[in-house]
Amino acid sequence: MKRAIFPGSFDPLTLGHYDIIQRGITVFDELIIAIGINAEKRYMFTLDQRKQFIQEAFKEEKKIKVLTYQGLTVDFCKKMDAGFILRGLRNPADFEFEKAIAHTNRKLSEIETVFLLTSSGKSYISSSIVRDVIRNGGDYTGLVPDTVRFQGKNE
Ligand code: ADP
Repeated sequence: MKRAIFPGSFDPLTLGHYDIIQRGITVFDELIIAIGINAEKRYMFTLDQRKQFIQEAFKEEKKIKVLTYQGLTVDFCKKMDAGFILRGLRNPADFEFEKAIAHTNRKLSEIETVFLLTSSGKSYISSSIVRDVIRNGGDYTGLVPDTVRFQGKNE
């Protein structure tokens, strides 16, 4: 049973994440989408909203679970008995950043990080750009799945 964790903030879920998740479930038997809770970070969407967007987007998909976690991703992998971490790569900056994290995680554990390259046409999408568009009143709907909707002022 190949179980992987796809960790992130998902603030909010974007079509970039959606693409990696859809392709990730063709590689793994089970994919746990793990929303990391970082007390230092300020989020635009609440934890419940972020969780709900993902759950609704994948409600028909039996191989996907949505959970939240605190602390080291490798500790959460061990707790969930997951041997893999899934991450998406958009550009060289992602690569450099992810490389250091993957090496560190490998030093701390046996867990393998598996990278999927972003689909063409999705590499420019990021949660921070979506938040910027929302903050400035732009149309963000073409950047996120239909389940992601901004209801009003969260910040
Ligand atoms: P983090 O806070 O860990 O950066 P994110 O929610 O921003 O979490 O991203 C989670 C994962 O999704 C990361 O591996 C990131 O590289 C990947 N990702 C985000 N946007 C895209 C995209 N447009 N294409 C491919 N992967 C993406």
